Amino acid sequence: MEIGNLSQNQIITTFGPGAIIDAKEDSVMGLDINYWNNDGEEYRRIYFNKLASYLGVRYFLEPKQGKNSFPVIIFPDWHVCSKVGCNLVFKLSESVTGNPEIYDSKGPKCPDCGFKAYPSRFIMFCENGHIDEFPYREYLHGGETQCEGKIRLRSASYTSSLNSLILSCDNEDCKARKTMGDALLKATFSDYICKGRHAHRPSSQNEKCSADLIPSLRGATNVYFSIVRSALEIPPWSDKLFQIVEEKKVEIDNYIEDKKIEAEIDDEVFDYEKARMRGLKVAYRKLDQNLMSFERFVEIYKKVAEGASEYSEIKESEYNSILNHRAVSKNYSSFLASEEELPEFLKTYFTRLIRIEKVREIMALKGFTRASFPDPDNDNFTSVVNLAGKETGWLPAVRTSGEGIFIELNREEVDKWLLSFDSKSISDIYDNEYKKYVESKGWEYRQNRDLVYVLLHSLSHALIRELSLRSGYSTTELQERIYYSENMCGLLIYTASGDSEGTLGGLEEMGKISNFQDVLLNSLKNALVCSADPGCLKTYPGNENLNGAACHACLMIPETACENGNRLLDRRTIVLTQEKNFTGYFEKLVREVCGINL
Ligand SMILES: [Zn+2]
Ligand SMILES: [Zn+2]
Ligand SMILES: [Zn+2]
Ligand SMILES: [Zn+2]
Ligand SMILES: [Zn+2]
Repeated sequence: MEIGNLSQNQIITTFGPGAIIDAKEDSVMGLDINYWNNDGEEYRRIYFNKLASYLGVRYFLEPKQGKNSFPVIIFPDWHVCSKVGCNLVFKLSESVTGNPEIYDSKGPKCPDCGFKAYPSRFIMFCENGHIDEFPYREYLHGGETQCEGKIRLRSASYTSSLNSLILSCDNEDCKARKTMGDALLKATFSDYICKGRHAHRPSSQNEKCSADLIPSLRGATNVYFSIVRSALEIPPWSDKLFQIVEEKKVEIDNYIEDKKIEAEIDDEVFDYEKARMRGLKVAYRKLDQNLMSFERFVEIYKKVAEGASEYSEIKESEYNSILNHRAVSKNYSSFLASEEELPEFLKTYFTRLIRIEKVREIMALKGFTRASFPDPDNDNFTSVVNLAGKETGWLPAVRTSGEGIFIELNREEVDKWLLSFDSKSISDIYDNEYKKYVESKGWEYRQNRDLVYVLLHSLSHALIRELSLRSGYSTTELQERIYYSENMCGLLIYTASGDSEGTLGGLEEMGKISNFQDVLLNSLKNALVCSADPGCLKTYPGNENLNGAACHACLMIPETACENGNRLLDRRTIVLTQEKNFTGYFEKLVREVCGINL
């Protein structure tokens, strides 16, 4: 089955295992990674222990570019004949035309008339990530049925409404008929039980599940959300020597593992330290020893082996590396940054502006959710469907190169800003609504989301919208990383869309202070008004909406660009508005430099 030409990036971000993919002739689903054939050299390895250890694997494999890059199965199984008058609804796996000899040469065909058949538009899924066939037979017969009559799906008129789609049974004694009008209503299936099926793992058993079934169209956007975890390959991890040791670490781990098994077989006490030291020596001997001394090798190994247990550790290490970019020697080939001198009038608001001329990112696919966008910080809630990394020891990932702009807000000024209005009560609204939301999803509430996060996030979006007009990258090619914790208060806007080594350079160019001033001021000006005002301006979080004054017309960006599903945004945190409860962080700047007063 040809699945068309998917790029490696697309496999990680959009069409990974568990996603429904429109193939040339049919609809298919990518299989879990333990079904991938990774014998020999089929996939290229990527080593980055910091991200790998956090994700519970040892290394990554890069999916192949292009056709047949990974195994898929036909999903959904139900198909509908395209011949007017026939329109048979059938399961391909139960009909002769599903036989590989016929299917592989001709694609899906109707077993009755031989015409081309299309995959069912309707499917079912649940909040826990299960997915299943649409229950055509049960839907038509109003529940469980013994009737085995042929089913047909015909259009009663030329309109495309579901009401005009008529499902009918051929059985003379039955003659059931029903429109598809209720086929997408959740209530229709309230008596149905999720079978707990993971179609991307065809040979594993179904799970127990008590979630409601959600009927859906196959191509709906909420059928699949990838959970991608990424890390920037920045100093010291971008150092060539570190990368050599990263690769050796897997060898050393294997060596230790072997020694452990030998000790068990021989009934001996296993000395981990001794085995590790010997493993290091063995691995070092195979290296070109002019590269580094054994002492240096061990030192780097220890750093690499530290790994990370929380995603926030990865972000903190990135943040610190970026701030300390001056300490980086020119030998670092894959990371290059330069500091911009801030003019006095911006020093109030920012402490640092750093152009990232060159950076590499590793993006790994951890798993997916269905029904709702995953939380950026929560990994182990029940509705996440993890790929089989535990079994394989690896996850799929890509390494891309890019460029970006990093800014750090002036923490002192941020604290002053928080005291300049009743920020506490608004912060509480955000945090409470966020907490409610997280809990309603069954996630663990781990990090509070106060107004400073909203400020950073809103600024990031305002800048991305402006940068997309000037940098040569569209909003879908730009990405944000919000660095916020007790020790961090900054953001990075970057692009890592380049599959190849190079980038356009247009983004970091915008980080030059002469350009950045314009970008910033224009972003702020644009954030002053929204075509949906005054409604937009008066919005507060509540009822599952986690945004304040933010909508598609003013502050939202494509979901691929946002690290938080377009949640926790509010223009009022950055500019001045007529909302008296707020002071914007840049209010004075907007008044003084833009000459705007309300
Ligand atoms: Zn037919
Ligand atoms: Zn029937
Ligand atoms: Zn389920
Ligand atoms: Zn708006
Ligand atoms: Zn965002």
